[in-house]
Amino acid sequence: MAILGIDLGTTNSLACVWRDGKPELVKNSLGELLTPSVVCLDENGSLTVGAVAREQLITNPENTASSFKRWMGTHKTFALGGRTFTPPELSALVLEKLRRDAEEALGEPVTEAVISVPAYFNDNQRSATKLAAQLAGLHTERIINEPSAAALAYRLAHGEEDACLIVFDFGGGTLDVSVVECFENVIEITAIAGDNRLGGNDVDEAIARYFCAYNQIPQNVLSLEQQAVLLRQAERCKCTLAWSSMAAMFLPGPDGSSYTLTLTRELLAKLCEDIFDRMKKVLARAIRDSGRSISEIDHVILVGGSSKLAILPDFIASLFGKPPLKLDDPDTIVARGVGICAGIKERSGEIKDVVMTDVCPFTLGTSVVNDDKDQNPHMSVMIERNSVLPVSRSDRFYTTRDNQEKIRVDILQGEEYYARDNLKLGEVLITVPPEPAGKQWVKTTFTYDINGVLQVDVENPSTSRKKTAYVVNPSLHLSEEELEQKLQELAAIRGQLDQSEEEQLLLATAERIFAESTGQLRKEISRLLDLYRGMTEDKSAGPARRHRERAWMKAQLEKLEKYREDGVFDLDLPDSWEDDSR
Ligand code: ADP
Ligand code: MG
Repeated sequence: MAILGIDLGTTNSLACVWRDGKPELVKNSLGELLTPSVVCLDENGSLTVGAVAREQLITNPENTASSFKRWMGTHKTFALGGRTFTPPELSALVLEKLRRDAEEALGEPVTEAVISVPAYFNDNQRSATKLAAQLAGLHTERIINEPSAAALAYRLAHGEEDACLIVFDFGGGTLDVSVVECFENVIEITAIAGDNRLGGNDVDEAIARYFCAYNQIPQNVLSLEQQAVLLRQAERCKCTLAWSSMAAMFLPGPDGSSYTLTLTRELLAKLCEDIFDRMKKVLARAIRDSGRSISEIDHVILVGGSSKLAILPDFIASLFGKPPLKLDDPDTIVARGVGICAGIKERSGEIKDVVMTDVCPFTLGTSVVNDDKDQNPHMSVMIERNSVLPVSRSDRFYTTRDNQEKIRVDILQGEEYYARDNLKLGEVLITVPPEPAGKQWVKTTFTYDINGVLQVDVENPSTSRKKTAYVVNPSLHLSEEELEQKLQELAAIRGQLDQSEEEQLLLATAERIFAESTGQLRKEISRLLDLYRGMTEDKSAGPARRHRERAWMKAQLEKLEKYREDGVFDLDLPDSWEDDSR
């Protein structure tokens, strides 16, 4: 049985398996490689996931959730369709769709997965990802860092000479920069730095903000729907600039008017200045931590959908003095790497044993005081940021008071000097025999495995008492019953996920274009929508006719998008619509 490799992205998710000696991307039920990581549960309890839900971001924003990966491992919840969801639950719905679509495509059940996460994900976020998989009926064979996966894919495609690479993964919501050394059959990540609040979304937002300023629209007067339309417009124009020198943006205004803006590459570069500054910092940190100099970097590899940003290659070239390496398919490279990793996990004979070493992306430690009077515990480092995994370090900690009965070992993550400024992941409390200060001690061991799970052992040698903590966020660790209950809840809302998904997508797309349009065009779209809705409700139609109708509707929508892309918005559509070859 195949292990499913999954790139669970902030914006888009993909699946890939190891087949016939190579990674093979798996298409979803709509025949697409990318499944948007978007979930919509509407007022009537109907659930959609993926491309359909992405359209509903605009037409039903209150009940649609996206970018929830940014909130993995936190307590944020999302309200949709009158109930609340945690980020792992929403991710589970995406994973479930990927799993089901893959089962359909592969013709076999899928229960095992390898899932990638940003290198910068902390323990809570990794645990939340595993929980999401569990809720989607998948056992996580391995969590792999996205840049490691990208390096693996690069390596398989581009030969095996020794090289020092920078993997620059710029997605919808995250930036991950990794320094990767490849030699013989070893792929070693020697440093990573990232910003999990920096992605293509921020470019869209910068464009949208400028649009509002330029048109003198106070942004807070826009409805949720208008904001969503604006962001979608911004994104469309940003992507258009990948091949065109300018792109037109518009937003329906009051009384049938439109706000407009022409976006050029120069303007885009200006709007991205802050974003590029932030990128520069992340790059500098990764290079500094790797101990290499810029001139020692052989290639910069651009990964992720946002690496198609028209102005990015020039920016990278200006920093490194040479252009980045162009890979055919920056959006799928992580998924292909995860597919290779799945192949390694399956121990497929065709695949050469690659030794992959990851690093721990953050410092782990515990809090200590200098003496009894010290009010401000500071961080005692156990595992240094960018240590190669797996890693295990031990240290001794002594009592500071006479007759002290307990020693508390805090488990902290972060780079700050004072303990209170770091993220507390947990603690271990152990009883020790009362004796003068400094007599009793505990041996504390931090072990961080390749899946990014932290184990902390604390042992008092005089009593041989031993305690172990696995660091997972308690709220992410469900009991059997809780898990069963969650699974049932999700099953109940899941309902008929896949039924006529293509029809749903066509209707949702038409509704979205309606929301984005004004005047005469709106009327035409509304006519088209009524017509097509009528077709889908006609129970007498057989599969062949349904298929023809879908193709027809798709062609109409493409025409509409095209009209708008050419910058002609208030256009009278041809009368020939209805008699267009059906
Ligand atoms: P993630 O890894 O966060 O799921 P992806 O790697 O799929 O994201 O990238 C999604 C991002 O890529 C989106 O912000 C999207 O706007 C952006 N993107 C896709 N195509 C282009 C393009 N041609 N030009 C600029 N940005 C693009
Ligand atoms: Mg990605």
